Amino acid sequence: MSVLFRHLPSMDRLLRHLEADPGLAAAPRALLRDLADAFLDLLREEIRAGAVADAGDLAPERLLPRLTAFVRVKARPHFRRVLNATGVVIHTNLGRSNLAEAAAVAVADAARNYSNLEFDLATGRRGSRYSHVERILCRITGAEAALVVNNNAAAVLIVLDTLAKGREAVVSRGQLVEIGGSFRIPDVMRKSGATLVEVGATNRTHLRDYENALTENTGMLLKVHCSNFRCIGFTKEVPLEEMVALGRGRGIPVVEDLGSGNFLDFRALGLPLDEPTAQQAVAAGADVVTFSGDKVLGGPQAGIIVGRREWIEKIKRNPLNRALRIDKMTLAALEATCRLYLDMERARREIPTLRMITAEPAELKAKARSLAARLKKALGGRVTARTLPGSSRVGGGSFPEFDLPTTLVAVRPAAPVTIEALRAALLSTEPPLVGRVEEGELLLDPRTLRRDEFPLAVSALAQGLEAATPSER
Ligand SMILES: *Cc1c(COP(=O)(O)O)cnc(C)c1O
Repeated sequence: MSVLFRHLPSMDRLLRHLEADPGLAAAPRALLRDLADAFLDLLREEIRAGAVADAGDLAPERLLPRLTAFVRVKARPHFRRVLNATGVVIHTNLGRSNLAEAAAVAVADAARNYSNLEFDLATGRRGSRYSHVERILCRITGAEAALVVNNNAAAVLIVLDTLAKGREAVVSRGQLVEIGGSFRIPDVMRKSGATLVEVGATNRTHLRDYENALTENTGMLLKVHCSNFRCIGFTKEVPLEEMVALGRGRGIPVVEDLGSGNFLDFRALGLPLDEPTAQQAVAAGADVVTFSGDKVLGGPQAGIIVGRREWIEKIKRNPLNRALRIDKMTLAALEATCRLYLDMERARREIPTLRMITAEPAELKAKARSLAARLKKALGGRVTARTLPGSSRVGGGSFPEFDLPTTLVAVRPAAPVTIEALRAALLSTEPPLVGRVEEGELLLDPRTLRRDEFPLAVSALAQGLEAATPSER
């Protein structure tokens, strides 16, 4: 055994091999050194365990290809592109919304160059970073003023902190929701220093419940979108208009957390997606409305706050605003996305999230057939691929109970590859491919895969099948 240790290649030999590999040209040298080290550790472990029993296993022609495969996988950046074949359009774990091309271009421009981020080109003096999106957000929503922070959780926090710190915020029991990722309305409220006053019952809240809860210490009436759950059956929520009428009479602001705000009225497109738009919330008289930038809106991660000037100005002056502010790339992406919304049809075509949600069943069926045909052609007898009707989800807590009809591609690996081995192997292909597994089949939903991604999906499956095939030894 100790003889074998002496046959281990030197670090220099390994590094020279790695540095000559064009596939690793972008990898930092320090990282290659760490990985070569890890590879040597692995070999020592194998010698000790008896897995490497003769010097031939350590010969360069056997070892170097193994080294290359080992390092190529591990030298990749940790944060990577993934193919989303789940059919969940706003998949929080996979990055929510893909930006429109115009927004991606604006981000790259803001990233590479100096800009007028906080510089007023009309006067040559200091400007406000919010000026770039405030007018367009008001133009779209009809609000008097607007502000953008890091995400909608931050938006809710700063609104509560500004309007209800040390005071009471009145919320319906049916709206004390947990969005996921530990965002719970009661917890955010505690953090802001507002006192939660719950009114109504879980399923039903009446206007008189709000009315009876009002005291001289009431800071706001808050309406929260239930997002990811539905209360059905014997239920009642108070319409925003009625809450506004009550608040106005007492000089108490009414705030609505829309969750996934949207600008596009899906019902007008014939889709039964019945959610209030930000415009409707503003028109109903809400004093402050908050929503996410990267849910149905299809823009960058951001928390958008629109509403009446007197409240928005107060929120802007809150010191928390400095801690929650958005960066220049987010601003660039948000402005570019909002510009598309000035023409709703253009927004629907060019914003990927909207395009995926509103994709026609016939188009999805054609895409599924095309993908299945490519898979059959490229992977021959190693898989069977068929198409079948199925459903996709909007995701991101939007329209939770609503199935969007789609056509799926069902892939079944041929023996000896098992579906579980394939699913696992697809997590380390280049790029990884994430689908759903049901009853021994991998289901790929073309709603969330673009046609230009099909070659990548086919390649990922080829790589996955290769890696999931049990080795001879
Ligand atoms: C998603 C959501 C939030 C949190 O928004 P983020 O942008 O993810 O921070 C808050 N409230 C509601 C109702 C939501 O649906």
